[in-house]
Order: sequence, then C-alpha cells, then structure tokens
Amino acid sequence: MARIGFIGLGRMGLPMLRNLVAAGYAVRAYDVAEIARAEAQGAGAEIVAGASETATEAQFLISMVPTGRHVLEIHTAPGGTLAGLPDGALLIDCSTIAVAEARSLHAAGAERGIPVLDAPVSGGVMGAQAGTLTFMVGGEVGALDRARPILQAMGRNVFHAGPAGNGQAAKVCNNLLAGISMIAVSEAYTLGQRLGLDPATLREIVSTSTGSCHALVNYPPVPGLLPNVPSSRAYRNGFAADLMLKDLRLAEQAAMETQSSLPLGSLATALYGLFCGSGSGDLDYSAVIRMIEGAPAAAPHP
Ligand code: NAD
Repeated sequence: MARIGFIGLGRMGLPMLRNLVAAGYAVRAYDVAEIARAEAQGAGAEIVAGASETATEAQFLISMVPTGRHVLEIHTAPGGTLAGLPDGALLIDCSTIAVAEARSLHAAGAERGIPVLDAPVSGGVMGAQAGTLTFMVGGEVGALDRARPILQAMGRNVFHAGPAGNGQAAKVCNNLLAGISMIAVSEAYTLGQRLGLDPATLREIVSTSTGSCHALVNYPPVPGLLPNVPSSRAYRNGFAADLMLKDLRLAEQAAMETQSSLPLGSLATALYGLFCGSGSGDLDYSAVIRMIEGAPAAAPHP
C-alpha cells in the first residue's frame, strides 16, 4: 500500500484520515493542534513533529487546512513540503482555496517536478465520516488516475473538473449555491412557521415540489427534522459559518477576476458577514436561520 502524508486533522481531515487507515494505508500525519495530533494517533496514524516531515518518504501528500494562505505556507514556503517530497510523489490539496492560489500551487509543484491536484470536497463532516465525499479535481488526468484509489477510500464520487485550478472553480460555484440556498431555505421555514405550518410538513411537501433543494431536504436549518444534521446538535460540528463566509469571499474574488456579477452572492456574503461578526462564526452555516428569525444569533435552539 502507498505511503501517505496528511496535514490538517480538523473536522474534515481527521475522519478522512480514519478512512485511509481503515483502507490499509500507512499514514504519517501532522496538525498544529496537539489535540488533533492525539486523535490522529489514536486513529492509527504515525504523528510527526512538523508539516514538512509528513513529506519524508511520502508517495502521496494530502493537505486539508483552512485557507489558501495555510496551503501555500505549508507547501511552498522555504523549508515547505515541496522541497522535501521525494521524486515521483504526488501532492493533493483538498482544502477549499482560491482558484488563483491553487494555480500557483500547481506552478510551484511543476517547478519542483511534483504533480499537484487541487481536489476540494463536498459532503461535509458527515460525508467525510461516511467516506462518501465528492472530490472535484483539477490537474492532469494521469495524476488523477494515480490518486483515484486514495480518493475513493475517502469518497464516493471523483470528478475530473479540468486542468489546474478547475477543481476549485467547481467548488466555489457549488458553495456559492449552497450559501445562497441556505438563506432562502431559512426564509421559507421561518415564514412557514409564522403562517402556522409544521416545518416537517413543509419539508415533505416542498421536497416533491418546485422549491426543493439540498438545504431544505437533506440539511434543514430547523432542529429536529433530521437526526444527523448540525441543526439537531445545536449547530455544532458541521460546516462553520466562518468557512462559508470565506468561500463566498472566494466567489466574490473569482467574480472580480472574471468580471462577473453575483448580486445574490454579494448579498449572501454580507449576511454571513453580519452573522459571523456577531460571534456565531463557529456554528454550522445553517444557524444563519437564527438571524433570519431575528433570534439572538449566538444562542442556538434548545
Ligand atoms: P478545521 O478548522 O476543522 O480543520 C483545519 C485543521 O487544520 C485544524 O485542525 C488546524 O489546526 C489545522 N491547521 C491549520 N494550519 C495548519 C498548519 N500550518 N499545519 C498543520 N495543520 C494546520 O477545518 P475543516 O472544517 O476541517 O475544513 C478544512 C478545509 O476543508 C477548509 O478549507 C474548508 O473550507 C474545507 N471544507 C470543509 C467542510 C466542512 O464541512 N467542514 C466541507 C468541505 C470543505
């Protein structure tokens, strides 16, 4: 089995690592947070003392960290992993970062002779735990073919989105939709409840009607409609509103670079900005319904 280095053992990285270990891969891992390192060790990974040490002897190196700044620092800064990766290794970044940042990572890899894949994911913490993530991959087809068995150990769907950076392009479009539609769904549930509709009834009806969408059916912001979604666990351990805000800002950045206009995207960015600014950024993004309801943002449903 291939030797894998893994950097970033947070909400997503840790369950992804667990699935790699369960598939039989030897994983050498690092996170700046001690608690994350301890959990990964408990999951069967070998823990090393720094990010660059995950590169030693790695055939594949995966990163799953918050932002493009972290990604570029870890891989391309002096003493970063690209300097230490053995020839023939493949670098796979699964973080959600700007298309331009992903393309500069590809360029830095090419300078070193190390192929890179930008491979952001969709499916959230639940998908990471269940090994059912969707990977949207930018880069060379040959590199993706090599990575495919590893990605399939962590996910169910692996798409080639095109050349360098196109995985991130697909991801930014997806999250633009997810961010906007969660606000729309929050408005519908709030209005429905005030009109006397049981949210479970509304969900059932709309799920077979023209307003149906993923946020309404599979990720409802109203607690208690589904057992295993963040709203039913006080909006904890999901996709942090701070990260959604980051991704909407990436969409705005991409819109500026391509002279596109995102009227609803800009409004959604402003709304999540207010929500996160009120101190709720660590809650799942579906908690934005609290703001739509006019409820105190930081206090989740009982
Ligand atoms: P997280 O904050 O839970 O985890 C990130 C981890 O990276 C943390 O444990 C942190 O300590 C570690 N880290 C930060 N800087 C580091 C460094 N220099 N070296 C080593 N480790 C470092 O975030 P997450 O929810 O796991 O998200 C990670 C990425 O995946 C983000 O880009 C996010 O946008 C994306 N993503 C998240 C979800 C989700 O549902 N949480 C879904 C899809 C994509």
